[in-house]
Amino acid sequence: MGLTTHIICAVFAFIFGSVIGSFLNVVILRTPLKQSIVTEPSHCFSCGHRLAWYDMFPIFSWIFLRGRCRYCKSKISPRYMIIEAITAVAFCLAYLRFGFSVKLAYSFVLFAVLVVLSGIDIDHFEIPYWCSITIAVLGVSAFFVFKEALWYERLIAAGIVIVLFGILVFIGGMGGGDLQLMAGASLLLEFRVFAALLIGIVLGAVYGVVKKFRDKKYEKAITDKIREIAGKWYENQLDHGSGFVREGHDDIIVGGISEGEPDIEWEFLDEKVWQGLPDKAALSQALRENLKDEREGGFKIYLEGEDIKKVKYSRRMVFGPFLAIGIAAAWLVGDYMIGWYMGLFH
Ligand SMILES: [Zn+2]
Repeated sequence: MGLTTHIICAVFAFIFGSVIGSFLNVVILRTPLKQSIVTEPSHCFSCGHRLAWYDMFPIFSWIFLRGRCRYCKSKISPRYMIIEAITAVAFCLAYLRFGFSVKLAYSFVLFAVLVVLSGIDIDHFEIPYWCSITIAVLGVSAFFVFKEALWYERLIAAGIVIVLFGILVFIGGMGGGDLQLMAGASLLLEFRVFAALLIGIVLGAVYGVVKKFRDKKYEKAITDKIREIAGKWYENQLDHGSGFVREGHDDIIVGGISEGEPDIEWEFLDEKVWQGLPDKAALSQALRENLKDEREGGFKIYLEGEDIKKVKYSRRMVFGPFLAIGIAAAWLVGDYMIGWYMGLFH
């Protein structure tokens, strides 16, 4: 194939990716809400004006309209454009790497799923299981299609990842969704999955540090608020003798805020050390009324006898997008990475 044809094909892959990306935007927005992805025609979220075909060019419409609605001039979030651009670049890279091949088709499906699960994880702190299953199905079918790796290599990789990641999930920080995703990916990537894991964890750790600094102020404010609410509640408990931790014992109240709703995981309470039982509904109610602005996070309230010793609060962090970047990179160039790594020992 001549260079010109090659470039034209790469541009087509880019355009194709941007069109798919604009469809993925709809999937990310609507599937978690169980809404149909093929209902009413597109319209502005602010003024409701129906969008014309020239308002809906992926990437370019947003740039030409400078991120505003043509009709009411209200701001349009850049995320739609960013998702289109990421999908476009990913599809283009896949073409440059694999050319016209079965692997290119696999890449399109894989990258589309990775974009969707990243978007949904960012919005809802959850990786839909159908995304992980789709990747696992790609992996199982890849065994019959590509015949590069032996079946037991895929299974060994999957086994190691599940054990390793199970430990990380157990320690905390990562969710079961992350585990499912990496287990699915290991079937597709075999030992390259370790490259994916490494990239994901390193990127996630860097982001975690940045986020910690950025969120410090907010986390402090929420921590103080929880301490105040829990303090009042506990005092009330003590006054009424209705439920408190006995002298010389301690306990932790564990809870979280999910989609703006605070919730306490009472099953972690060690009821043996309590004198009477806590008024669970009252504390939940007080938290719900006073923590309306916070979206996602986890807290712990440490009780020691009649005192609240300390309160910890941290905002939740997503890992899915970083793992997705790792998986995409390992799929594209994992062979080189493994080769380079092996080369270190020769
Ligand atoms: Zn508008």
